[in-house]
Amino acid sequence: MKVAFIGLGIMGKPMAKNLLKAGYELQVYDRNTAVLEEMKAAGAKVCNSSVETVEGVDAVITMLPNSPHVKSVMLEDDKLAAHMPKTATFIDCSSINPVASREIAAELEKYGIDMLDAPVSGGEPKAIDGTLSFMVGGKPEVFEKFKDLLGTMGASVVLCGDVGAGNVTKLCNQTIVAVNIAALAEALMMGQMCGVEPEKIFEAIKGGLAGSTVMNAKAPMMMDQNFKPGFRIDLHIKDLTNVVDAAKAVDAPIPLTQSVLEMMKVLKHDGDEKCDHSALLKYYQKLANEVLHH
Ligand code: NAD
Repeated sequence: MKVAFIGLGIMGKPMAKNLLKAGYELQVYDRNTAVLEEMKAAGAKVCNSSVETVEGVDAVITMLPNSPHVKSVMLEDDKLAAHMPKTATFIDCSSINPVASREIAAELEKYGIDMLDAPVSGGEPKAIDGTLSFMVGGKPEVFEKFKDLLGTMGASVVLCGDVGAGNVTKLCNQTIVAVNIAALAEALMMGQMCGVEPEKIFEAIKGGLAGSTVMNAKAPMMMDQNFKPGFRIDLHIKDLTNVVDAAKAVDAPIPLTQSVLEMMKVLKHDGDEKCDHSALLKYYQKLANEVLHH
């Protein structure tokens, strides 16, 4: 199967390499040309434009930052919708606004092209290991056709519903993670100010109902004041802004998401947007005028 892959950043590069390892024929492009030499060495055909990548392919995969980038490549500046084979399927792995996913799918339908939205969770380490979790939206028969392809990059591939359902699920994931991290920071700071060591709080509650993957990953980072990303505040602001836009379209109540988004915006204002999202603790440290310790 011949595949075009556009967007070879932190996530896209290792994902594309896993497709090559699995034997897919790959034609790749990124406007950051620095990455292209490495992809050539890994066995990909490097192209001079996104339009060149789609020649004769069965699928076009994008892994781009946000909705405007995907629209630009598929419908506007590069207009791949008009250049890709009508028999090829568009698979967007970027985390974008589900409303935009549905708009793109509707435009592609005019060209007779099918689409899956297939965002991921797991971050760079799981992209490298090929153990990402894919949340997919699209027609069941299209999903079946490309399930194995996605499976070469992921440990879990779940069809969540029609086009857009993948990105709705991803937004749910991002809300749950953000609110969890904020709750963890709030509780550890409150506990310390009430006179109990954060380390003891973590040790005592991590095995109970409050325990979570977020707690196990982020509590040690908070106690170490280690905010090296991981997943950056600016990317999480992008995702929560997409939650706000998607929720607004259907009048869904999202008071917790709104609050954590405001906290993240304060951190961005303070210059912490490149920190890991565990830096939500810094918001509490600033208000409490003390630092969390072990
Ligand atoms: P990134 O910024 O590292 O990579 C994006 C790539 O797209 C860059 O290499 C950029 O040059 C390229 N690009 C942008 N516009 C382009 C265009 N018009 N034509 C060609 N190339 C273009 O971002 P990333 O961390 O790889 O994230 C990609 C997507 O995956 C985002 O939607 C992000 O939210 C999501 N995601 C990221 C992580 C993570 O931990 N980084 C985890 C899960 C999901």
